[in-house]
Amino acid sequence: MSDCIFCKIIAGEIPCNKAYEDELVLAFHDINPQAPVHVLIIPKLHVQQIDGTNSILAGHCFAVAEMLAVQLELSDGFRIVTNRGTHGGQTVEHLHFHLLGGRQLELTMG
Ligand code: AMP
Repeated sequence: MSDCIFCKIIAGEIPCNKAYEDELVLAFHDINPQAPVHVLIIPKLHVQQIDGTNSILAGHCFAVAEMLAVQLELSDGFRIVTNRGTHGGQTVEHLHFHLLGGRQLELTMG
């Protein structure tokens, strides 16, 4: 999608600090990290929500997050988050998962 910042990162029009890439997903370090490790895992397809046609992508993103957690030495644990809509605090409308770790994260959910 031409006006989507994540699509521009995938297209190489905006640089990123890449953590992982395969044919389905790209993972890169968040520009405004909320933890010592803060990686975004995004499908290369511009997906806005998970449904029956693309749920395999979401599963793959989780598998990549688990693999990166090992690579980035998050052996004490980590959190995977996805924000949806205004109440969820979503700012980029391209499905993405935050992988956070490297410190004790807050125990609250809200
Ligand atoms: P969300 O608020 O869940 O939509 O998350 C969007 C995330 O994208 C935020 O954590 C931003 O810091 C991050 N972000 C926005 N632009 C960039 C960029 N150019 N490179 C890396 N991360 C970005």
